[in-house]
Amino acid sequence: MEKISQITTGKAKSLYTTNEPDQLIMEFRDDTSAFDGKKMEALDNKGKVNNQFNAFVMEFLASKGIETHFIKLLSNHESLVYKLEMFPIECVVRNRATGSLCKRLGIEDGLILDPPLFEFFLKDDELGDPLINDHHIESFGWATQEDADAMRDLTLEINDILVDFFKEANLILVDYKLEFGKFQGKMLLADEFTPDGCRLWDKDTLTKMDKDRFRQDLGNVIETYGEVGERLGMKIKLD
Ligand code: 5GP
Repeated sequence: MEKISQITTGKAKSLYTTNEPDQLIMEFRDDTSAFDGKKMEALDNKGKVNNQFNAFVMEFLASKGIETHFIKLLSNHESLVYKLEMFPIECVVRNRATGSLCKRLGIEDGLILDPPLFEFFLKDDELGDPLINDHHIESFGWATQEDADAMRDLTLEINDILVDFFKEANLILVDYKLEFGKFQGKMLLADEFTPDGCRLWDKDTLTKMDKDRFRQDLGNVIETYGEVGERLGMKIKLD
């Protein structure tokens, strides 16, 4: 697969065109950001760890019938993905209250949410990714009602799969963010699933094992992502 030219570069990943017009190379970089890009740092090996972590989770979800943009790993830090028409929307599911939910509504940190809570956010760093609902999505044309419903249903279906997946590794899937796009009219899971975009707590000690380690300066960020990978049975290559 030939890497031709960079089309976008985000806070942690870059996308390149290839000799196949509907396939892109997604490169995971070591750059790490928090607070809508206000805190930035490069962490050694993060690109490799997250690329392989994402591949493992995407392949697991595909084995459970979830359609994703992931095609295959190309190298330790690059994957081949389908080129999608992306929705400017972030889909969040929360199994425990923490983070922005607690700040916004004064909810007790760690409260179990049963049923899990679903929220849409607008993907816009300058606006601080504000909370939105179906009506904003429809009124402003960010997606049709049918596509918004499909994103919510898929995000909740993925939650059922991943809660059990992480439970096997003695981890609580606290919350996570997903993004979706369309490929030839079909809704596919896009972007990534890594500890950068979810919260994982050790089931016994409630130790944070995700990007909150970076956000809150807790240290050992990438070592901890690696430990999560190991618990899930991944063999992450750093050469
Ligand atoms: P919160 O709304 O509490 O900030 O985040 C809820 C969940 O979604 C967390 O797991 C968080 O990591 C993830 N999340 C929300 N927005 C973003 C984002 O813009 N980038 C990333 N990487 N994760 C996000």
